[in-house]
Amino acid sequence: MTVNRVVIVGGGVGAAAVAEQLRAEGFDGQIVQVSDEKTLPYDRPPLSKAYLAGEAGLADILLHPEDWYVTNKVELKLGSGAKSIDVASREVVLADGERVGFDCLLIANGSRARLFPGLPAEIASIVHYVRTTQDAENIRSLAAAGKRAVMIGGGVIGVETAATLRLLGCEVTVLEMAPRIMARFFPAELSAKIAELHARRGVKILTGISIAAIRAANNGAEVCLADGTTIPADLLVIGIGVVPNAELGSEAGLKTECGGIAVDGYGQTSAPGIYAIGDVAAFPLPDGTVTRWENWTHARNQGAVAVKHMLGKETAPYADTPWIWSDQYDFNIQVTGSPEAEQVVFREDVAARRITAFHLTNGKVVGATTINDSRNKASVRKLIERGAIVPADKLADVSVDLKKLVAAL
Ligand code: NAP
Repeated sequence: MTVNRVVIVGGGVGAAAVAEQLRAEGFDGQIVQVSDEKTLPYDRPPLSKAYLAGEAGLADILLHPEDWYVTNKVELKLGSGAKSIDVASREVVLADGERVGFDCLLIANGSRARLFPGLPAEIASIVHYVRTTQDAENIRSLAAAGKRAVMIGGGVIGVETAATLRLLGCEVTVLEMAPRIMARFFPAELSAKIAELHARRGVKILTGISIAAIRAANNGAEVCLADGTTIPADLLVIGIGVVPNAELGSEAGLKTECGGIAVDGYGQTSAPGIYAIGDVAAFPLPDGTVTRWENWTHARNQGAVAVKHMLGKETAPYADTPWIWSDQYDFNIQVTGSPEAEQVVFREDVAARRITAFHLTNGKVVGATTINDSRNKASVRKLIERGAIVPADKLADVSVDLKKLVAAL
């Protein structure tokens, strides 16, 4: 099939990367990018950090400046998202009714915040999610010294936002249903370390909680826990996970799996020439298990494979070692590989405030977390990808050069 026109649905990092990669691969046909937001596509990680803190503005977080789209001949259609796909006529129908034809379509429309059910309408102005620049601005406008901010959810949104609001002077409480924070990212030993960093800065973290009710009270709200505790709030931030925007695919008859649009190893859906990447895509791992990943680098890397495949270039099926980063206070946390571990080995330089923690299963390094120790990133990735078995005392010894240790394997 000759590809003359590619339509990209989405305004996030995956969509931006695909437009970039199409041009980098020499595609000189038409590229149309469609986003339901009115602003130029921007990067979301700063929304809970520098953008929320007011240290970065919109211009700082744009994925590409405005003139990039002109130079690279990417036609942007903003403010009217894709509503449906007509697979037979190969057209995307936008919210305003416009039909945009395609030879290849790439769906990178991501996910939306999971809503907390049953919140009273009276507290709507103090309840916020962290998904858009507007959300972050709304939160910032309510954040001031002494304001009581309650995060519902102790995942990455909850703890990053907690750190930023604490730096802005708020009194912060994090409420997490699971027995520990950030459980999706690393083993329990690391959840405890991160919780300790927050406790030292005065953030209160309550885990294993169950919320019985949230109601309006004293110009704010109060969160009532099942154990009878009541927590007053001037600001409520909700980060209880996301829901993939898979309806665009399912309503068009595309196969779905794991809550996402099912794709093969090349990002292609059940309809030839229609691809999906990033949060919305359910894809096969090399062992055949189907999964969905929600992270920044995954969207970019899966997009690169999809682009090659749609242009008929040679490429191996997508396979990657997951990697995420998080900034909280002055700590940079990076997690590579699996969050599951039978044993965690800490390599800690207390004076330099650096930690690399290895996640071991059956003696093999299956994952690792670094805290202010990103210089070990490449080495830990190699250990994970080789399934290396290294004695725990060597991993823990800060005097052993990790690069040399990896080179000697
Ligand atoms: P998340 O990482 O999935 O965490 C949500 C947390 O909220 C989970 O621990 C969940 O516990 C808990 N939870 C669910 N329902 C709850 C309830 N009713 N009360 C209290 N806790 C509840 O999702 P997120 O933090 O909302 O982040 C949203 C998305 O943004 C994710 O895709 C995330 O990867 C992405 N993000 C990434 C970064 C980064 O990589 N640095 C930063 C920000 C956001 P259970 O697991 O037990 O349900």
